[in-house]
Amino acid sequence: MPREKVNEEEAMRRMKELLKEGAVMLSETCPICGLPLFRLKNGDVVCPIHGKVYIVSSDEEAREVEISEIIKLVEYEAVKRLKDMLGEGMEPSEALVWLRIVEEVERIRSLREGRASSTSRQGTPQKSP
Ligand SMILES: [Zn+2]
Repeated sequence: MPREKVNEEEAMRRMKELLKEGAVMLSETCPICGLPLFRLKNGDVVCPIHGKVYIVSSDEEAREVEISEIIKLVEYEAVKRLKDMLGEGMEPSEALVWLRIVEEVERIRSLREGRASSTSRQGTPQKSP
């Protein structure tokens, strides 16, 4: 199976554009490159690099590890850029986009972690009436 190397620069630029366009970052990831997928306003699900993709669910452990590595990388890049730009007097709108990326990545990470250990977190305690 051919492995495509993710062009980080391109990926970050596309993710930023998608968020600006109002797309929503999903907890699903691209089956080809492992980047988070985005849902556009028209309902299409796209990869920042590969465009429209079809979500396949695979629970292979190795793949999960690879995906979390990529998600970590995305988070790192976003934080790094945010930091760099703060030093250069970044436009507030630009900062917000990067902050959103960091927030979305955090959310996705906790979603994925929750899914990985879903045994202990099934259902919240109910108050009896
Ligand atoms: Zn992709």
